[in-house]
Amino acid sequence: MGSFKLGKMTFGSLFKKPETILYPVQTRPAPLGLKGHIQVAIVDCILCGICMKRCPTGAIKVDKPAATWSIDRFRCVQCGSCVRECPKSCLAMDPNYAKPQTQKSIESVSKPTASESSEEEKAAKEALEAKKAAKIKAALEAKAAREKNLT
Ligand code: SF4
Ligand code: SF4
Repeated sequence: MGSFKLGKMTFGSLFKKPETILYPVQTRPAPLGLKGHIQVAIVDCILCGICMKRCPTGAIKVDKPAATWSIDRFRCVQCGSCVRECPKSCLAMDPNYAKPQTQKSIESVSKPTASESSEEEKAAKEALEAKKAAKIKAALEAKAAREKNLT
């Protein structure tokens, strides 16, 4: 009786849609409650190393002299301890799947130096000024055109 049931199931599954998908070519939306993977906002990180000390699997490495923060995603067990302990709240769980990888690797990010940050700020300021100048120029041109039409 048991083998008959099993045979029926096996035969039936030949005509059903497969339960699996061709990941990563095909993906499914991340389920609710998925812990996801760790993300760091490196600009806010002060390289204190607390996350490294609290990580139970040694997945995080903080190198203060080199100003780098690294994570071995294959070691991370998504416990969230680093996220809870970070004094600057610059760690978060991204509730999506991490990018698939074919090899074990360590992801490393460098904290931008003070001069790099100020360069970025300077460029953003310049872009804003240029935008403002373009708006003023367009308004003046529109005003001149209106005046020309009135005369
Ligand atoms: S605990 Fe937060 S601030 Fe400290 S090194 Fe880790 S990520 Fe950076
Ligand atoms: S979530 Fe847990 S295991 Fe993963 S890096 Fe943070 S402390 Fe380590």
